[in-house]
Parts: sequence; C-alpha cells; structure tokens
Amino acid sequence: MEKMVNIPEKAGKKRVVIVGAGFGGLKLAGKLNPEYFDVILLDKNNYHQFQPLFYQVAIAGLEPSSIAYPLRKNFQKKHHVHFRMCEVIGVFPENQSVETNEGSVDYDYLVIATGCDTNFFGNQSLKNTTITLKSVSEALYARNRILQSFEDAASTNNEELLKKRLTFVIVGGGATGVELAGALADMRNHILPKDYPEIDFSKMQIHLVDASPRLLLAMSEEASVKATETLEDRGVKIYQNVFVTSYEDGVVSISDGTRLVSDNVLWVAGIVGDKLSGFSQDSYTKSNRLIVNRYCEVKGFNDIFAIGDIAYMETEAYPKGHPQVAQGALQMAVNLATNLELKEFGHNPSPFKYVDKGSMATIGRNAAVADIIHFHFSGAPAWWLWLVVHLYTIMGIKNKLFIFLDWAWSYFTYDISLRLLIRPKTKMN
Ligand SMILES: Cc1cc2nc3c(=O)[nH]c(=O)nc-3n(C[C@H](O)[C@H](O)[C@H](O)COP(=O)(O)OP(=O)(O)OC[C@H]3O[C@@H](n4cnc5c(N)ncnc54)[C@H](O)[C@@H]3O)c2cc1C
Repeated sequence: MEKMVNIPEKAGKKRVVIVGAGFGGLKLAGKLNPEYFDVILLDKNNYHQFQPLFYQVAIAGLEPSSIAYPLRKNFQKKHHVHFRMCEVIGVFPENQSVETNEGSVDYDYLVIATGCDTNFFGNQSLKNTTITLKSVSEALYARNRILQSFEDAASTNNEELLKKRLTFVIVGGGATGVELAGALADMRNHILPKDYPEIDFSKMQIHLVDASPRLLLAMSEEASVKATETLEDRGVKIYQNVFVTSYEDGVVSISDGTRLVSDNVLWVAGIVGDKLSGFSQDSYTKSNRLIVNRYCEVKGFNDIFAIGDIAYMETEAYPKGHPQVAQGALQMAVNLATNLELKEFGHNPSPFKYVDKGSMATIGRNAAVADIIHFHFSGAPAWWLWLVVHLYTIMGIKNKLFIFLDWAWSYFTYDISLRLLIRPKTKMN
C-alpha cells in the first residue's frame, strides 16, 4: 500500500500544499484565507532561515538560533496550517500528489517555493572542497572552519602553512561576497589581534574574486564604486572579470593565471534551482528554475504554481526574470494568495507586478551602500538603515532582541562574543 504522510482529512475546503517554508512559502501559508483553504506546509527543516544574515553567523557575529525561527511556533494559532517536516522528491501531476521521503501528499493546488541552491557551474570538485553559505548549517560549518584556521595558524611556526591558514578567498562579488569580505576585514583589523597575540595579522590576506566587470552588479554603479573603494581601503584584494577554475591541494587557480594558496575558499558565486522529478525539461530554464506565467502558474499546469527564487517569470519590465531576493518571494506570495481566492469565486486573477523597494549591502563597520528608488547613498547612514531594516524583518521578538544586543555589544566594544568552535559529537567520532 502506498505510504501517505499523516495529515488531516480534507474537510470541504481546497487543500493547498506548499513546498518550502522560506520567505515565499511562509508568507503564502500565513496569507491564505482559512475560510476557503487548508494548508499543508512541507519543509526539510523545522525552521525558517533568514538567509541575509548567514554571513554574520559565519563570522561569529550572531548565533544560528537568532536567525532561524521554529515553524511550528509560527503556526500555533493558525489551525488551518499543518506543518510536516519532510523532503519533497517529486511531483505526480496526473494524480495531484507529491512524493516525499515520508510518503505522499495529495493536493488541489500545489505551490513550489523551494528556493535555489549554490551554483558550482558543474564543477563537482569545487562543490566538495569550498565553504558555502546557503543554509544555517552551512553558515555554522563556515564559522567552525574559519575559527579552526586561526587556531591552526596560532599553532604553526611554518611560514608556508601560516600563509595558507591566514589566506581567505571569497568567490562571488554579489552582496554576500562583499559583506563577507568586509566582515573578515573588520575581524582582522579590530578583533583577531586581541584574541591571537601570537599571530601577526598583517599576514592575513582577503581576496575577493568576481567574474563580473564590477562588484554588486545588481546595484547601481555608485554602489559598486563605493564598495570597491571601501573594501580596498580595508585591505581586501579584488579581482574583477575573472573566475576560479579550480581549487585543488589547497591552491586556488584563477582564470588570469593567479594562484593563491589557501585553506579557506568561500563560494558565494551564484545560485541554481534543484529539479524535482515529475516536471518535463519544458517547464525548466537552463538554470533549473520553473518557468511561470504572470499568475505564477508553472508552464503546462493550472493547478501548480511556483514562487520566489525558483520561479522564472519574464515580464516587459524584467525580460530576464525578477531579481532573486526576499522581496520578490514575498510579493509573489501575496499575489498568489489573492489569486487563489479569486479563482475560488470564478474571478479573473491579477497579474504579478514586482515593486522594487531597493537594495542594500553592508561593507563592514559603519559602511554600507543603499539604492532606494532613485537615491543612492553610502557610509554610516546606509549602514544604520541596513541594521534597522534587518532588525525589523527578522522573525520573532526574542531573535530581534538577541540580535540587537549582539550588534550593540560588538559596536561599542569592537568585539564579537560568539567565537566558540563547537562541533556536534556523533557516535562516529
Ligand atoms: C547568503 C545569502 C544572503 C542573502 N541576502 C539577501 C539580502 O540581503 N536581501 C534579499 O532580499 N535577499 C537576500 N538573499 C536572497 C533571499 O534569501 C532569497 O531570495 C529568498 O530566500 C528566496 O525565498 P524563497 O521563498 O524563494 O526560498 P528560500 O527562502 O530559499 O526557502 C526555500 C525553502 O525550501 C525548503 N526546501 C528546499 N527544497 C526542499 C525540498 N525538496 N523539500 C522540502 N523543502 C525544501 C528549504 O529548506 C527552505 O526552507 C540572500 C541569500 C543568501 C543565500
């Protein structure tokens, strides 16, 4: 007999199955009208992750628990939303069901909101050897690796090894790459020399390798120039218009012939979708995003939708798809919640229209860049705005409070308080 995930029987309402409780999936689950819909929310983790602050976990600035929020707590008072922790493997559109590692789930409407994963551009070896930042667990792993490098550096008197351990290569000049480079530079300049008096931190190198012609390509030219200037002032070496070809035996090879010996290669160079079985290649773009129309319907279906990073929607204003940012996912979720209700009443759905609310990136202490509508600004005002916006958007009062305290502590003391190297113990070690 087919194994089914244990969920409440259908009770006269349409069942909406949402795969993924990221920005898009979570917003949609909260917005769907309980009068007309039962919601089954599936995610492989039992928490929502706030990706914009992953880099702060990686540099030991924030605890992982401050940027994750338990999904069950979020829906304690929403009895029409049923969360199940499981990984969705495939879709059976002909049976209106999805297959998960815990069994199958039937749907009336299916919404794919699975986000994207790190893109290694087909290079399996880079996938195995570099440090990534696409989940809370990866951010925690990055933190351990970075801290371990300093501990190892303190223990060696071999100059070659010291150089390798103190060299950080960040691949990808988007917001995450810039933020990581700036944060590492701050650590080198303000924090690490106090912790490791035995290390000469003038030997610590930070390299930022970017395949595009300028940093922060998705932002204004002003933002790129300011980010480049600030990072260079803080001692980051930037490589533009080049790409990493390999990372083998501790050596990073760059397409311009540069070789860098490093223990720490952080890969934040782009994202790609994860394919689910059951959709034909026709429904996917080359980067594995699901092609949707203006109503978020996946190509070839009218009961399956995709929102957020995984959805690829071409419009006149965005002929190459919308930016893969939190606002895109949130706005698609709100639009789809309204459209599903309109559909119930036989009304025409309204097409999705993205409203660009601007973008920001931090470059380190008192330094950030912001493009808000037609205004471009940088420095301390942009940095304070970045802090306020992120504090406002993070989920949970406790998380907001803890993050505020951690940020205030590090601002006034030039210190971060979470430099603990904690590894889970398993029966294997
Ligand atoms: C390091 C980093 C920094 C970023 N900074 C910013 C920023 O500053 N501003 C900004 O606007 N955007 C930023 N982004 C982008 C932003 O986080 C994404 O655009 C946004 O998270 C997309 O939301 P989503 O709902 O599409 O997917 P996600 O938020 O990625 O959520 C996808 C969910 O699906 C779940 N899932 C995936 N596959 C399965 C499966 N098969 N079965 C079950 N569950 C599954 C995942 O566990 C996850 O919970 C950043 C991203 C990263 C990685």
